[in-house]
Amino acid sequence: MNDYLMSRTWAEINLDNLAENFKILRAKLNPKSKFLAVCKANAYGHGIIECAKKFQDLGADYIAVASVIEGAELRENGITIPILCLGQANPDLALLTAEYKITQAVGDLENGEKISKIISAKNSKIKIHVKIDTGMSRTGFYWPDDENEKLKTAGEIKKLCELPSLEAEGIFTHFAAADDDKNFTRLQLKKFLDAKEKLSALKINFKISHAAASVGVLNYPESHLDMGRFGLVLYGYADTEKGNEGSTLGLKPVMKVKSKITAVRKLPAGTTISYGRTFELKRDSLIAVLPVGYADGLPRNLSNNFSVKIHENLCPILGRICMDMCMADVTDLKLKNINVKPGDIATILDGDLIPTAAKNAGTIIHEILCNPSQRVPRIFINYKLKI
Ligand SMILES: *Cc1c(COP(=O)(O)O)cnc(C)c1O
Repeated sequence: MNDYLMSRTWAEINLDNLAENFKILRAKLNPKSKFLAVCKANAYGHGIIECAKKFQDLGADYIAVASVIEGAELRENGITIPILCLGQANPDLALLTAEYKITQAVGDLENGEKISKIISAKNSKIKIHVKIDTGMSRTGFYWPDDENEKLKTAGEIKKLCELPSLEAEGIFTHFAAADDDKNFTRLQLKKFLDAKEKLSALKINFKISHAAASVGVLNYPESHLDMGRFGLVLYGYADTEKGNEGSTLGLKPVMKVKSKITAVRKLPAGTTISYGRTFELKRDSLIAVLPVGYADGLPRNLSNNFSVKIHENLCPILGRICMDMCMADVTDLKLKNINVKPGDIATILDGDLIPTAAKNAGTIIHEILCNPSQRVPRIFINYKLKI
């Protein structure tokens, strides 16, 4: 089977590295805090079922998804530990939430009431985590500065928590700038603790309070509270903007995208390459054709602006990246007497190349990891199990 799956372009997912990252991060978290592994968006492109299973086996306390549909898929595939849906509570999915025992984030009274009504009618029940907006301005109860407004908001949250069929298990917030704004992050945490205190005065208390995602856990030990939410770091990267600082913590990238060269072509100087003729060969060249394009998740704006690895050498992509193919210059390899032939494997993305791809494409590592599309098979490598 793997022969077919590895015939064109595929992503190798190293589950041993995933496990090592988990262990490193577990040790960074307050031993009393629970560990939530974020598996939204197909586990950042790594394969949601296999990654969630691995986290469950490793002893994660919670899995997070972005939609109830993702959560249902996990339940259908053997995930029995608690699952938190971080996405906006959606009344259309209320019954599914109850059926699959998914904990739902709720950030406003209106949706809470709708959901409670639907679920009560079926005599069912769900757990919720109340979301507080302390400065991300995305979802959650906006936490104001004015004391009277605070009491009003706390009153609304109390009403939500006391709705029938909703069990308020948790309360949380999300930092907007944990990587580069200490003052704002501290202010957000302060607001969150203030909200908890005002609710506590109304006798509304929660089993699980949480605030920090990956960078928050690493940079702000005071934000660990009852649970840390780990996303990007589990997949081996600790920094979104400045390249990969994860390696200093011992984190190991988990994904490698590889592609099998389909043709190696000799083309004379002066020939132009690909759509729009954006690259003209300066010399007689040897060009490898790779069956990977933007529909596989290689961003088109890396055209003429990225290099892939072939036999450990960086080979520039020449001309525009097409939907299903791109071309790389292997002339220098020939000059070094390295033979390149159809069937040889090129590394399109790996631990070094992913931060470069993100930088050159003007985006963040998260987006490059999420990119590989459905037609890129994920091949799970678990060296330790094989032995
Ligand atoms: C995506 C997400 C996370 C994980 O973020 P990372 O930066 O990848 O760790 C945590 N919490 C919430 C609410 C999220 O939406």
